Formats: sequence, C-alpha cells, structure tokens
Amino acid sequence: MMPLNLMASVDLTKATIEKLQDKLFDKKRITVEVLRTDLIHPVISGNKWFKLKYHLDAAIKQQKIGLLSLGGAYSNHLLAVACTCNAQKLLSVGIVRGEEPAVYSPTLLQLRAYGMQLLFTGREQFKNKLILKQQWAERFSRYYWVNEGGQSEEGVQGAQEILSLVPINNYSHIICAAATGTMMAGLLKSSKHTQYIIGIPVLKINDRENNELITFLKTKSDHPHFSLLYNFEEGGYAKKTPGLIAFMNTLYKQHQLPTDFVYTGKLFRAIFSLAENNFFPEGSNVLAIHSGGLQGNRSLAEGELIFKYNL
Ligand SMILES: *Cc1c(COP(=O)(O)O)cnc(C)c1O
Repeated sequence: MMPLNLMASVDLTKATIEKLQDKLFDKKRITVEVLRTDLIHPVISGNKWFKLKYHLDAAIKQQKIGLLSLGGAYSNHLLAVACTCNAQKLLSVGIVRGEEPAVYSPTLLQLRAYGMQLLFTGREQFKNKLILKQQWAERFSRYYWVNEGGQSEEGVQGAQEILSLVPINNYSHIICAAATGTMMAGLLKSSKHTQYIIGIPVLKINDRENNELITFLKTKSDHPHFSLLYNFEEGGYAKKTPGLIAFMNTLYKQHQLPTDFVYTGKLFRAIFSLAENNFFPEGSNVLAIHSGGLQGNRSLAEGELIFKYNL
C-alpha cells in the first residue's frame, strides 16, 4: 500500500535513461547510460525515496504519528523524510549532527519549513547510533525510527525497485555511489549474477578487506560479482578537492548533468577514470545510477559551480 498523496507527487516516469556521449567512451568502445533517479521529485530526490518508502508503509501500518531519523546539516535523507512526512500529514523529528548553528544551513531552514522538529546533538554523541536510538526512540515512542541513510531491511527492499526503471538486460556493469551501501545492496539483490555491480565508496575506508560496508553487502546478498573500488573518495565523506569541482563543472558543460560533490560527483569522476584506465572491457554497457541528492552543494560558495541545484 502506498500512500496516495505521495504516489501523485513522486513521478517515477521522470527517471529517464540518458546516454553519456563522450569521445573517451567511443575510443574505449563502451557505452555509458545514466539512470536519472534525481528527476523523480524536486525535493525527495533519487535513492532516498526508494529507501524510505517501506519505512513509511510500516509507520502507517503501525499507526505511528511520524518518522524519527538522523543526519547532518546538509542531509539529503533528512530532507526526504521531512518533505515526505509533510506531504503525508505525518510529524517528523530529525536528530542533527553537531550543535545548533547560529545561522541555519539552507537545508536546515527547509527541514524546519516542512515542520521537522530538530534535535541538535554533539558530534561525539552522534557517533553512537545505538545509544542515540535508545535515548530518543523511547521519548518519541509514537514515531517510527528510521536508521541513518535509511539503512535497514526496508531500505534495501525499496532500493531493489530502482532497477525496475531500466531494461536491465542491456547492461554488463551497474555502478553507483555507496555510503551506507543500502542502495547497492538493493541493486545486488535485483540484478543478474552475470552482471558486475560496482560501488564507489564516498567515505574513507582504511581496511579494504574487512569493513562495515563489505560486511553489510555480504549479509544482504549472495551476488557473486561485485566490487567496491576505493581511491575515489577525495579525502573522505563530504570532502572535496578543486579537481572534483572542476570535473563537475566540465561534466555539466559537456553533458548537462548536474552532480553533487558528496556522492554523484565522485561517482562520475570514478567512471571517467576507470574508462581511461581500461577497467571496462571493450563492448561493456555500463549503467550509472544518478542517485540524486544535491543538498551538499548548498554548502559551496556562490559561483563555485556553474549550474543551479535544488532550491
Ligand atoms: C544517500 C545518498 C547515497 C548513498 O546511498 P547509500 O544507500 O547510503 O549507500 C548516494 N547518492 C546520493 C545522491 C545520496 O543522497
């Protein structure tokens, strides 16, 4: 059961598939197509909707009065929660990383405008999600708890629906950005075992053999053919380099593709670098998931990017 208001406002038919036409890909004899999940809704963009939908279902079934979740001051996830709840006439509470700032970020202002109650939490405290959950879930017992980034069974279940938007058999490789890995787990569960699924971690991961992301992916799926490719995180989560910003501007100029520096900018920079280094064999048909979420760009100085993003 999907709530009616949102069915009307999230429009999956807007998630077009666009070919990235580039000399590099021609030279390497590969094709790269982009699934634009960023276009399904002006605010609830990309993978956040998919990861949220079954949480919303469960909350409504359990007759909760709202959703309770957590994230940073530029969180695509909290914005999706706030906007979704607003449309559903549900309440929402956001536990925000860091002390309350003197000046709210544009994203925080928007969360407040959607009626989200904001609970600012020191950065140290924010690190222990289990304690946060214990602390707040009891006080807000009539709210449905959603893990950070929608990482849960419900989140994975929703993310499995992303590939229903594409002619799945056309692709040899599917590539996406990965933070919690919830979206990637959904892709692993909904793709063929002959397809190669690649995640580009956007956070710094020191132990490449054994880390939370890999463990999560392995517990969620038995897909035999996937990799996490490191070295594209540009220093760490929400970190950036001048090279990344320049790349995003060039990508926009040449392909009219808007990206953000936290997730999709790193993903597309990785794709070009992998192609350059012959990672994709000749004849590969690559599907790149544009997972949406441009909020991070709102922390940049005016004019750093040549394109406009989320109002
Ligand atoms: C949240 C987010 C991701 C990360 O998704 P995970 O499921 O946590 O790996 C990727 N891209 C964008 C645009 C996001 O907002």
